[in-house]
Amino acid sequence: MSGTASTVRVSVDSAHCIGAGQCVLAAPTVFSQWPSDGRARILDRQPSGTQAVAVRLAVRHCPVQAIQLIESGVGQ
Ligand code: SF4
Repeated sequence: MSGTASTVRVSVDSAHCIGAGQCVLAAPTVFSQWPSDGRARILDRQPSGTQAVAVRLAVRHCPVQAIQLIESGVGQ
């Protein structure tokens, strides 16, 4: 295995999400916001490639650390 192609599993803790929208800005094909309360909604739970990179950025930008990321498919 090369270890370069990875897939991540994404989840959002809705109890902590404050609807800041930073995740949507970082990865708009992975996250969206519910119109009712602005909380994050996941469009793609297992993004890969450039979208996985964008999700890592979203994790860093989320002001309340509400995004969980589980790395998978990474060779070690
Ligand atoms: S950046 Fe964090 S707080 Fe903001 S909408 Fe996304 S998950 Fe919620």
